[in-house]
Amino acid sequence: MVGGKATASPESCCGCGACAKACPRQCIRMVADADGFVFPQVDADACVNCGRCEQVCPFERKPDVGDRVQPKIYAARQRSQAVLTAAASGGAFGGIAAALSDEPGGKDWWVWGAVLDENLRVCHRCRRLSEGLEPFHKSKYVQSDLGDALPEIRRQLKAGERVLFSGTPCQVAALRNYLGEGPIQDNLFCVDLVCHGVPSQRMFDRYIEEEGRALKSPIRQVEFRHKVYRGRKEGWDSRYMRLTLADGRQKVRNRYQSRFLRAYYAYLFQRKSCYTCPFTTAERNGDVTIGDFWGVKRMLPEVEEDRGISLIQVNTAAGERVTERVTERVELEMELWPVDREAYIKRSGGAMVQPAAANRNRKAFFRAARDDSFFRAVDSAIPAWKEWAKIEFMRRLTPETRRKLKRLRHGNGSGAKG
Ligand SMILES: Cc1cc2nc3c(=O)[nH]c(=O)nc-3n(C[C@H](O)[C@H](O)[C@H](O)COP(=O)(O)OP(=O)(O)OC[C@H]3O[C@@H](n4cnc5c(N)ncnc54)[C@H](O)[C@@H]3O)c2cc1C
Repeated sequence: MVGGKATASPESCCGCGACAKACPRQCIRMVADADGFVFPQVDADACVNCGRCEQVCPFERKPDVGDRVQPKIYAARQRSQAVLTAAASGGAFGGIAAALSDEPGGKDWWVWGAVLDENLRVCHRCRRLSEGLEPFHKSKYVQSDLGDALPEIRRQLKAGERVLFSGTPCQVAALRNYLGEGPIQDNLFCVDLVCHGVPSQRMFDRYIEEEGRALKSPIRQVEFRHKVYRGRKEGWDSRYMRLTLADGRQKVRNRYQSRFLRAYYAYLFQRKSCYTCPFTTAERNGDVTIGDFWGVKRMLPEVEEDRGISLIQVNTAAGERVTERVTERVELEMELWPVDREAYIKRSGGAMVQPAAANRNRKAFFRAARDDSFFRAVDSAIPAWKEWAKIEFMRRLTPETRRKLKRLRHGNGSGAKG
């Protein structure tokens, strides 16, 4: 196979770009396909078949994660209402980062995470922990472009810096593989997300363009997971998107009104490899894994969840040390509740343990979206009212019944969490 991973199938390539960054001959380029998903393209004449691309590929190789411990799960919530409002769920990421800043070693950490830049592109950026985490907050439901993050992180670690990296599980595995085993990872702390898949930047661009046209003013800013508080029903779990327009207006769209969110939560347009994601297992590659603690009331009835509750799973000795610091130091401003892990895994059935099931209209959607408007392609694949009724119905069922129903429906994904 020429270029090893560079000829991978869409089902087994997450588009992380580790192969391109690791190639000693620089003969791999990441190129977007018709739907905007990036794949490696190899210059066969320059390739010397060294196999380096396969060594770093997260689909080919399990990463070195350091000292694994028996995983533990917590529900977590920041005490500060302002921090809670800024975060996607309970602010676990901020709490972990605060505990890290407390680690002995002196130096300020470099923090890497996904931001929505000034051109509304989702990409990984870094800044010092002391500068704050603001650009990283909120889950951007688009594949984040790692750019030069991998070589830059290697450079930082080699220079003796400490690095906190947050990303999807495939990105964490890609980074660890790219760095390789050994002491280079000693100063690296990884946070991987519970993740049920990413759409492409191109689909997001098209949504932004058409929504701006419909609203008669271009969209300048987007806030995913905007939290609206008008009574209990409109808390964190309603999953709103806030759009800021060039003319100064702000529009809030719920998960049904926004064609982007509607498609996202119906698993209509995620990357193909997300539907067969090998990282949706309880054995994780981050030092800690964070996610949304949906249904926390069923396990911890005493916990108030209106403004969001995170889930933290501790996977490694480093993750355990840092999480213990959060529990010991009340001034870190985060509350943690231990949870029975077996019971959680049994109940959850979500992206912690299984990949999203592709919507049966996925293929038809992309066919339509290539020639027609994004709005029309979404509307024909998942009519709003139908999706609404289905999701509201599913939400009222127990996870066990939901799982049984999903199996019966042969993988038409809807009612997604995240
Ligand atoms: C694409 C995606 C799918 C998800 N699916 C689920 C799910 O099915 N179930 C579930 O329980 N949780 C899911 N999550 C995680 C969840 O939405 C929250 O990110 C998590 O609960 C952390 O909450 P927080 O309050 O600590 O986050 P915040 O403080 O808001 O921090 C957000 C964190 O997410 C990272 N991030 C944001 N967008 C991206 C991106 N596009 N790519 C890589 N990293 C990103 C940031 O770097 C930051 O570390 C998903 C997140 C993403 C990005």
